[in-house]
Amino acid sequence: VDALAHPEDSEFESALRPKRLDDFHGQPRVRDQLGLVLEAARFRGTSPDHVLLSGPPGLGKTTLAMIMAVELDSNLRISSGPAITHAGDLAAILTGLDAGDVLFLDEIHRLARPAEELLYLAMEDFRVDVVVGKGPGATAIPIELPPFTLVGATTRAGLLPGPLRDRFGFTAQLDFYAAADLGGIVRTSARKLGVDIRSDAADEIAGRSRGTPRIANRLLRRVRDYAQVGGHPVVAVAEARQALELYEVDELGLDRLDRSVLTALCKLFAGGPVGLSTLALSVGEEVETISEVAEPFLIREGLMMRTARGRVATPAGWRHLGMEPPAGSTP
Ligand code: ATP
Repeated sequence: VDALAHPEDSEFESALRPKRLDDFHGQPRVRDQLGLVLEAARFRGTSPDHVLLSGPPGLGKTTLAMIMAVELDSNLRISSGPAITHAGDLAAILTGLDAGDVLFLDEIHRLARPAEELLYLAMEDFRVDVVVGKGPGATAIPIELPPFTLVGATTRAGLLPGPLRDRFGFTAQLDFYAAADLGGIVRTSARKLGVDIRSDAADEIAGRSRGTPRIANRLLRRVRDYAQVGGHPVVAVAEARQALELYEVDELGLDRLDRSVLTALCKLFAGGPVGLSTLALSVGEEVETISEVAEPFLIREGLMMRTARGRVATPAGWRHLGMEPPAGSTP
């Protein structure tokens, strides 16, 4: 999907992950709120309320779940909505938990319906009902669960059914990072990777990272490759720019996918309006990739709009591709 994705990604991600809440850059409100939730739980000596983390990919949901476990000095269990195909899978995970564990469920909005219903009871009453037998003779055997904290992650809280959303005691909405915070993340990551980078070069990378730490770290690695191969011991802004141009990441941070969406919108559909699925089809991508990765960014940059009739390119969108918007096009 992502032209810049790399097999070494996951290895680097774990190396670059901040381990404690104090090392987590940016998202000041979420950090403060979560800090308080953890502090209060520690004070009372109980497991904190279930936490829902929502926001686009790569903003640090997994990182925050890991930090919670570290701060609570407890174990982290990880699974995800799509990995749990039967209610029984979830029952097995839940009954295997130890008291105080943090259970991270990524993409919780993709949990199958029966598993979701099992989860309601587990979250509220710390109990699961395991059904034994079939038909009229079936009986539900209740199993007590130890106290645990569920950390659910989803790209949008609105994707969750109300009853599930309501069972979280605390919901944190992660937003795209401010440029200054991302610059700080790039500098910290560079230090961890042993890359000597000028401050303005770090800011250049941050500025093209679409507000997303995962992308910032990924671009830093590509810049590092470029500087190492080119024999530049210190990464200055010129090397950062050259490397990013080589990898087709433009000044606004659009990559090949974003540009192909915008180009299709303007060139194939005369600027729209066009439906999401048609747009996805025309660039050969999954609808989800467009709606969760490319679109939020293009909208946020003011290059595209979502209207009742479909997606529309804004005049800024046309100009970003070096074209004049057609006369009479929407605002
Ligand atoms: P996804 O939903 O796609 O799994 P995510 O929101 O769970 O994404 P993470 O995997 O937590 O994102 O973070 C991606 C990368 O960004 C990690 O390598 C992590 O180190 C880094 N990162 C995220 N947030 C921060 C932060 N606030 N400070 C420093 N690094 C961060």
